[in-house]
Amino acid sequence: MSDWKQEVDEIVYDGKICVPYSWTVGTTLSRWYGQLRDDGEIWANRCPKCGKVFVPPKNKCIYCYEDAGDWVKLPGTGTVETFTVVYYSEPAHQPKEPPIIYAVIRMDEADTGIVHLIDEVDPEKVEIGMRVEAVLKDDRQGELKDIKYFKPI
Ligand SMILES: [Zn+2]
Repeated sequence: MSDWKQEVDEIVYDGKICVPYSWTVGTTLSRWYGQLRDDGEIWANRCPKCGKVFVPPKNKCIYCYEDAGDWVKLPGTGTVETFTVVYYSEPAHQPKEPPIIYAVIRMDEADTGIVHLIDEVDPEKVEIGMRVEAVLKDDRQGELKDIKYFKPI
């Protein structure tokens, strides 16, 4: 008697599963996204113990674990801390046609960086230390994409 499992080539079908879901961003980020959507303002929050200012805001300080404290309105400007330029095209997963400039931007009056796009500049001219400002959408939805990108100032 033969072992039929060893004699059969397995047939594999490719498929795709779509799993819609919803999740809450929590009270801290709900306030942050709401301020961005409703007022077109970028806010941060400050740790009452060490004074670090976080954007996006945190529920707890990542350095000393204190509950977050005061809210701080940021001016919407910052400095490029690091960046990369993507030339590879993958339209289904990219926010725009390449080249795409992704950067970590240290917002003025904050101690953390925010990852976002840079636009309105030749990718060859972007550099660490470049000063930038946020460009917001007119029709904001309460999401990070309400900031269209940052542009040089
Ligand atoms: Zn702290």
